[in-house]
Amino acid sequence: MSKPTVAIVGRPNVGKSTIFNRIVGERISIVEDVPGVTRDRIYSSAEWLSYQFNIIDTGGIEIEGGQDQIVVQMREQAELAIAEADVIIFMVEAKTGITAADQEVSKILFKSKKPVVLAVNKVDNLKAMDDIYEFYSLGFGEPFPISGAHGTGLGDLLDEAAKHFPNEGEEEYDEDVIRISLIGRPNVGKSSLINALLGEERVIVSPVAGTTRDAIDTPLQRDGQRFVLIDTAGMRKRGKVYEKTEKYSVLRALKAIERSDVVLVTINGEEGIIEQDKKIAGYAHEAGRGIIIVVNKWDAVEKDERTMNEFVKEIRDQFRFLDYAPILFVSAQTKQRVHTLLPKVKDVADQHALRIPTHVLNDIIVDAVSMTPPPTDKGKRLKINYGTQVSVKPPTFILFVNDPELMHFSYERYIQNRIRAAFPFEGTPLRIFVRQKS
Ligand code: GDP
Ligand code: GDP
Repeated sequence: MSKPTVAIVGRPNVGKSTIFNRIVGERISIVEDVPGVTRDRIYSSAEWLSYQFNIIDTGGIEIEGGQDQIVVQMREQAELAIAEADVIIFMVEAKTGITAADQEVSKILFKSKKPVVLAVNKVDNLKAMDDIYEFYSLGFGEPFPISGAHGTGLGDLLDEAAKHFPNEGEEEYDEDVIRISLIGRPNVGKSSLINALLGEERVIVSPVAGTTRDAIDTPLQRDGQRFVLIDTAGMRKRGKVYEKTEKYSVLRALKAIERSDVVLVTINGEEGIIEQDKKIAGYAHEAGRGIIIVVNKWDAVEKDERTMNEFVKEIRDQFRFLDYAPILFVSAQTKQRVHTLLPKVKDVADQHALRIPTHVLNDIIVDAVSMTPPPTDKGKRLKINYGTQVSVKPPTFILFVNDPELMHFSYERYIQNRIRAAFPFEGTPLRIFVRQKS
């Protein structure tokens, strides 16, 4: 189930990132007195009262054209918000009043027919309230006064935004449909791989688009198993200025990861692994998705009998946290091994949804403990009383112990390895929580 998305649009310096931080609840983007300063984080999940949503600070996506072309920047940001968000917070500021750029953006937002909530920031005191009435003329109804400096007004603003959230509670796809996304840097060959997958003879592409949101997903079927490729349209349609920015591609990836069961982390075999590959893979890992590492463009790599092993070694070195992920070497261009992708996705999805019976789990734990007893700490020894698997996707376990403080990372890792020795859980991260119970 995907969460609603809220995007903040507005001129540089009206306080978008300040408000973004307030809503997200951590100072994850950098606020400075310099307008248009680049920020690290522009997309985050957020919670407000009972609402859960994702939020985008479109100001954090620097669009080519630069400072002197504020209107161009804002137009692109507005387009992006329209494409990505369920609700748009259009932010202006009390101090400066309505500017030409504000008017330009309001025209674009108006035409889109997306729900827009108008926020007037920097209303730091009662006197500033006098300034908000002129904003009615923008045509978005009641302006909501807020102050990023004091954190006031956000509740009313978000209540208003939440009125426009799509109805929750509906799963997008049936439980047995495996949701797949391909993520990776631009040009690694994601679109080519999707086309290669869809071009496979034995893949039946269903003509029904099955999503409730703007993203256009592609359902397909193979050997009776239903899959859906998440958000392929976003990858195929090209040309918008903001789509060429790196931040946008990360945002796309995050959204796709969130909606997927299995993520294909795609790497360009010709170029090897770079830092951004790790970042993207890290998100998929943290999100607890099934993961397959796909090395594409293998046709273009000069190789001898050692090349593949060396590449595997490099991947294992660089992605230590993904030691559970299978690696496939493919070529979208020659179709080499492309036919192995969906069967591997199916395997990983099965592992991701695997449940170990409690008694089997506890046999594993008892054996593990007798082979290597837990170390002692200040004379006290950890005792694992029992374990149970509490959920799937990803498989999540709780270990009940005499004192959680005594559980060290390395021993937890050891238990995890023992579980994997019995049940490989290939392609899926495992989560282990330790709770007190004697
Ligand atoms: P952005 O470019 O729209 O993301 O704006 P920023 O969040 O970077 O804020 C621009 C400047 O406005 C910073 O100096 C903030 O400290 C300041 N600012 C943000 N919110 C408020 C507010 O509510 N009141 C006042 N007085 N200043 C604010
Ligand atoms: P995306 O940005 O990740 O979707 O990448 P594209 O699918 O647009 O591919 C980027 C470029 O790499 C294009 O020029 C493709 O023709 C090329 N490409 C994609 N897959 C392969 C492959 O398997 N082998 C080779 N040699 N080139 C490829």
